Amino acid sequence: MYWEKELELLERKDLEHLQVERLNKTLRQAGNSPCYGQMPEISRFIRSGMTSIEQIRELPFTAKEDLRRDFPWGFLATDKKDVVRLHSSSGTTGNPVAVYHNRHDLNSWANLMARSLFTAGVRDTDVFQNICGYGLFTGGLGFQYGVEKLGCLSIPAGAGNSPRQIKLMRDFGTTVAHAIPSYLGRLFDVFREEGLDPRKDTQLHTLVIGAEPHTEEHRRRIEEMFGVKAYNSFGLSEMNGPGVAFECIEQNGLHVWEDAYVLEVIDPVTLQPVADGEVGELVMTTLDRQAMPVIRYRTRDLTRILPGPCPCGRTHRRIDRISGRSDDMFIIKGCNVFPMQIEGVLMKLPEVGDDYRITLETIDDQDEMIIEVEVKKEWFKGDLAFLDKLQRHITHLIRDEVLVRPRIKLVEPSSIPKAEGKAVRVHDHRQKG
Ligand code: ADP
Ligand code: ZN
Repeated sequence: MYWEKELELLERKDLEHLQVERLNKTLRQAGNSPCYGQMPEISRFIRSGMTSIEQIRELPFTAKEDLRRDFPWGFLATDKKDVVRLHSSSGTTGNPVAVYHNRHDLNSWANLMARSLFTAGVRDTDVFQNICGYGLFTGGLGFQYGVEKLGCLSIPAGAGNSPRQIKLMRDFGTTVAHAIPSYLGRLFDVFREEGLDPRKDTQLHTLVIGAEPHTEEHRRRIEEMFGVKAYNSFGLSEMNGPGVAFECIEQNGLHVWEDAYVLEVIDPVTLQPVADGEVGELVMTTLDRQAMPVIRYRTRDLTRILPGPCPCGRTHRRIDRISGRSDDMFIIKGCNVFPMQIEGVLMKLPEVGDDYRITLETIDDQDEMIIEVEVKKEWFKGDLAFLDKLQRHITHLIRDEVLVRPRIKLVEPSSIPKAEGKAVRVHDHRQKG
């Protein structure tokens, strides 16, 4: 049932005790880095020691800008010669930052990944195909070492080349695959083009999906298309990468591994903690990293702590799926809009295909939100009256959801160009000022 029973089932008070112990160790280690070393609050706690986990609130936050400003070595807390690998975030929102690992860190990360996969029901008898970029992106090597530690047969397939992915799956009897959700619609289309049905023509039973925001509706679609269970995997480079929070087989939120991370959810304006169940910004602190501890990192990801125990028995708290990044939000005609609100509407409609694109444009001095929506092949053919009705229906639903009337353009399946890595949902071409 469990990969590390003694840690996964720890009583809350023992878990918090372990956190305090590890946090003190982390602070001492962080104090070796040029940036944390000069922060008075950190020096104070290195001297006095923390006695409760709530005291973490007295420490300063670390923002992505801090990591960028002191790039490349400002947060390195160990001798360069002990560093054995670096990763770098994909730079979705600007310049990348670098994160360093020593041997201890890599081992601890692989262990968290093995635990995460086990939690989602993956076993050493599985054949695991990792459909994602290797290299600086953490989804490649992060999963690779976890899968090997768990003992599956791993197929480090890398990203793209769908026909090859399908061949690998069929040749080696892949049972579990990991991919970003926005790629899976494309992969499914290629199955269909080849006259294959992943439900019948593969042995897949599980998909692990993550690295980008997606809705519950999107997950259900993926499960339906492939005839599998799809588990949500959350992580970010600054906290290693994947293996920070993962769904268990209950699929009711993601357990955050609290022996390795301190979890906080704050109000991004007041910077104070929000109550359990309330949405705020996720803030994370590493507890088992040596080369580069990161303290109170403001992830900009929006989520909430789900109150109550999980039937699986793990005591590590659960967060809800990420509803977006605070910097994903755009304002149009005075309304705040998150792309996932739009995805939530679209993915509920059976006629809608797997992709959409939001473009913001200034037309006749007015800001407009144009949404191209792929329609499934069987619905796209012919009947203009039907498409007209569908277009009006989507317009109303989205207007009701986000309070702005969009211009909906229905487009052919697979016609929206795909991003190389993570999906880019919003293109803002508005005239500024
Ligand atoms: P970048 O910040 O450049 O995209 P990373 O590759 O480190 O670099 O990506 C981490 C980010 O990806 C997270 O902060 C989050 O916004 C997003 N992310 C990762 N996993 C998920 C997930 N399961 N659901 C939603 N968003 C996710
Ligand atoms: Zn659980």
